[in-house]
Parts: sequence; C-alpha cells; structure tokens
Amino acid sequence: MKIKKGDQVKIVSGKDKGKTGKVIRVFPEDNKVLVEGLNLFKKHVKSRQQDKKGEIILIPKPITVSKIMMMCSSCNKPTRIGYSVSAGNKTRICKKCKQTL
Ligand SMILES: [Zn+2]
Repeated sequence: MKIKKGDQVKIVSGKDKGKTGKVIRVFPEDNKVLVEGLNLFKKHVKSRQQDKKGEIILIPKPITVSKIMMMCSSCNKPTRIGYSVSAGNKTRICKKCKQTL
C-alpha cells in the first residue's frame, strides 16, 4: 500500500469525486482507506427507548485506493506515488515534482 495514515488524498471516482480529505485509517489487506468526513453513508439507528424515534447517523465507509489519488503537499496536485531509494531507505516521492512525500 502506497497510501499511509495522515496522507491528504483526492477522490477521483464515485459520489464524492473531487473532494479531498485526510486518511485516518488504512486497511492494507482490503486495499482500502478511511478518509475523514468522506464517503459517508447514512445509518439508521434504532432507539432503545420505545417512546423515542430512531435517528440517522453518518458513518464514513472505507474507500478503495483505486478511487483516490495522493495529494502532493509540494505541488498541491493529485499525483501518483513513486519511490526513491537512497542508502537503503525507500522514500515516497511525487511523480510530478519529485519531492519527498
Ligand atoms: Zn508534487
């Protein structure tokens, strides 16, 4: 997985297309990430008390990494992630401006 927790990403497909947000959780085994405040789904919650109505809450759902792009903090554009290896260390770089991400 190239995307990490704390990354700024842009959604490029689906109902939240064009929106950006911060990755708050990654699910490498599913190739999915949870983006703060995005890809929200309504969930109806039943009230435990009989005289009260249930309520609707919004829950963020994990989104497939193929539907997002990394936002580069240097050039401020959605970009692909490349890797640069120096002295045995692998660092992520922006494929557009070559800055370390
Ligand atoms: Zn860049």
